[in-house]
Amino acid sequence: MSIPAGLYVHVPFCAVKCPYCDFYSNPYRRERAEAYAARVAENIAAYPAELSVDTVYFGGGTPSILPPPLLGQMLHAARRRFSL
Ligand code: SF4
Repeated sequence: MSIPAGLYVHVPFCAVKCPYCDFYSNPYRRERAEAYAARVAENIAAYPAELSVDTVYFGGGTPSILPPPLLGQMLHAARRRFSL
């Protein structure tokens, strides 16, 4: 029996890049965020069948800068792939 893992999704966008910050992030651009969310969703769908995940975490960057449909795209991919 495998122990469920947590899935961490890094959101690498912020309104601006603060000069003191060491977290990986870039200024938000809608088209880049759409492409990023699509790649994350594809990546989740490709995870091995034996991997079990019960929680999704978002960090960044500034996760709340993403429009809800993009957050939903990634969460829907996770719900399709795992038993959240
Ligand atoms: S993660 Fe926070 S501190 Fe770092 S650049 Fe974004 S808003 Fe600034």
